[in-house]
Amino acid sequence: MSVLVLGGAGYIGSHTVYELIDAGRDVVIVDNLLTGFKAAVHPKAKFYEADIRDRKAMDEIFEKENIEGVIHFAACSQVGESMSQPLKYYDNNLYGTMVLLQSMVAHGVDKIVFSSTAATYGEPERVPILESDRTEPTNCYGETKLSMEKMMKWVSHAHGLRFVALRYFNACGAHRSGKIGEAHNPETHLIPLILQVPNGQREKIMVFGDDYATPDGTCIRDYIHVTDLAQAHILALDYLLKGGENNVFNLGNGVGFSVREVVDCARKVTGHPIPEEMAPRRAGDPAQLIASSEKAMKVLGWKPQYNDLETIIATAWEWHRTHPHGFEEV
Ligand code: UDP
Repeated sequence: MSVLVLGGAGYIGSHTVYELIDAGRDVVIVDNLLTGFKAAVHPKAKFYEADIRDRKAMDEIFEKENIEGVIHFAACSQVGESMSQPLKYYDNNLYGTMVLLQSMVAHGVDKIVFSSTAATYGEPERVPILESDRTEPTNCYGETKLSMEKMMKWVSHAHGLRFVALRYFNACGAHRSGKIGEAHNPETHLIPLILQVPNGQREKIMVFGDDYATPDGTCIRDYIHVTDLAQAHILALDYLLKGGENNVFNLGNGVGFSVREVVDCARKVTGHPIPEEMAPRRAGDPAQLIASSEKAMKVLGWKPQYNDLETIIATAWEWHRTHPHGFEEV
């Protein structure tokens, strides 16, 4: 039987496929290649270029392939864009998931692990954040992910589907082989933007706000390596395959780093001075996001392997240094 990975040509999806294949699993990928890259598709995976909103295409895949469970990454994920184009997020993330679940229910495929986000919490009531804490997203991206979680809950209630939602904190880093890594266009994430400076693609890094209520005034985030996230998806799928109930897990290292600390660490890793400049706060950014991942560790047996920021940034630097234009040929 195969694992169906939706969005398997994207950043976290492609890393999960690499781990699945290393673990000896058969993988089928569906990706519309709007933000994913063909070059990120593992050569041993079966690939369909299709859109999860296309019911006919999804029905054909479920009919043809013997799918034991689905891992769902196929979604838009840019916070800023979600604020200026909310309907794009409702269409791709919510409508897309609705069509997917219709097709899964029709074909008796009843296990799904999917990407949720720390953005479901909004401004946290405390850190570290527990899964049971208040969810009040401050951006449309987080809102659609929270709505996806709720859609799964009601479909589970009516049709017996079982799901695990994984709420990621700040995904970063790249695969140990150096073959795949982070490549967004446009890039909005802190670590790849910082690394554009030593790569000669940017003069300096803008620090969005230095007047937050944090020790150095810059925002604190919990940075978690993409391979550790990938492992959590496999553990979550196996949990469902063994009969586990619906569940939601945070995935982070449980340690926060400020923007300034991340820039400093990147200076150390790259040996480049990386100039920084203060800029206004970015709308919707909470001061601190730090995960409690105790539940994932206890219930899934998850243990992040990359718990040191310097190692995480070193894997990202190896990828960006050797692939300054990501997967695109120039
Ligand atoms: N950030 C920054 N400069 C940048 C990009 C991001 O200061 O050019 C900050 C951002 O305000 C946030 C942190 O870095 O506090 C992480 O941002 P990112 O977009 O990587 O992830 P997010 O926390 O939004 O998921």
